[in-house]
Amino acid sequence: MSGLTRDEVAARDADDPLAPFRDRFLLPDGLIYLDGNSLGPVPKATVAAVARTVEVEWGRDLIAAWNKHGWIDLQLRVGEAIGRLIGAQPGEVVVADSTSVNLFKLLAAALRLRPGRRAVVSERGNFPTDLYIVQGLGGLLGGRLELRLVEADGIEAALDGGVAALMLTHVDYRTGRVHDMARLTEAAHAAGALALWDLAHSAGALPLDLAGCGADLAVGCGYKYLNGGPGAPAFLYVAERLQGEARQPLAGWFGHARPFAFDPEYRPAAGITRFQCGTPPVLSLRALEAGVGLAAEADLRLVRAKSVALTDLFIRLVERECGGHGFALASPREGAVRGSQVSLRHPEGYPIVQALIRRGVVGDFRSPDILRFGFAPLYVRYGDVWDAVATLREVMETRAWDRPEFKVWAAVT
Ligand SMILES: *Cc1c(COP(=O)(O)O)cnc(C)c1O
Repeated sequence: MSGLTRDEVAARDADDPLAPFRDRFLLPDGLIYLDGNSLGPVPKATVAAVARTVEVEWGRDLIAAWNKHGWIDLQLRVGEAIGRLIGAQPGEVVVADSTSVNLFKLLAAALRLRPGRRAVVSERGNFPTDLYIVQGLGGLLGGRLELRLVEADGIEAALDGGVAALMLTHVDYRTGRVHDMARLTEAAHAAGALALWDLAHSAGALPLDLAGCGADLAVGCGYKYLNGGPGAPAFLYVAERLQGEARQPLAGWFGHARPFAFDPEYRPAAGITRFQCGTPPVLSLRALEAGVGLAAEADLRLVRAKSVALTDLFIRLVERECGGHGFALASPREGAVRGSQVSLRHPEGYPIVQALIRRGVVGDFRSPDILRFGFAPLYVRYGDVWDAVATLREVMETRAWDRPEFKVWAAVT
């Protein structure tokens, strides 16, 4: 390692079976994009798919397109494709709404499936929207809901007979730490609770086996590793064994058994369809469909192996090149329990990230002191890892980050 050169690192790109995928994306020349965990880039196929949907399907066929071009069940079809990426069985995944809204629907369904139980267990460091949704639902229920927040090592101890659901994010958004889905799902079940997984930083980044783990419920984003575009619709998973009994409160007509019967009485559709709410966003769905289609072409075991190799390389190079500059590793050192990102802590994290972005190395900052770098194996190269670390070293050695313009906080960090 100590003698590793850029040529040796770049040689790994020449041997990389996933290398051809990079050309399937629109990526600006010279940009090293390490933020695909927040917003994936545009697949070239998306441009054509969206243009066709606008010009041909919407443009020529107008309302007839709902039947003629299958818009009416696009959420189910794209859901099926996502289901194959996350180890769900057919009929267990549908695309709908946003991750936040889907959390609301599934948490409410979980509480109805576990009458008499009032607690939801989660991690204090979970993504805020997940926690806010529990708080909002609790308000609606007149305070008859307890959000029990614990640290990662206290999860199992918090599970008792009062818990309706264990709600966890599989890959931590700040640190990238991966939870053991099988073990924690089993622990939830042993306490009689349901396990609800947020797959925002997992879907499309690592192989998942929801069915094999016995997971009950799950949600995830379309715009991160699935490259579905800004604000892409999200997905939700409900294990088949629960679908008959499960009811969600956003009982819109797209979840009705016969939406075009215009029956004044709500009757839920069979299966996963009942977890839809209103009219789907067709243009966004076509973009998501293209992103998911591209992800489905890659062998997820190769994706995962490259992700671990890229993140290992980044950690080793940062420690070699940027030692002495005050960085601390916030991600697990062990690849097996690290998602597709590396997070570093530094008290000047925000301006350092801004100085990197100015130099064409795009990562992001998460409060209070995390510099976060995502390594999406379909388009990030080993050579990019080298160049990103060289840029970080230059920013630190020259104190290029120490300029007022880099300390002005933007609305989105
Ligand atoms: C990105 C992310 C979300 C985003 O939810 P939206 O409803 O799409 O804004 C939710 N949860 C986690 C863990 C995330 O990382």
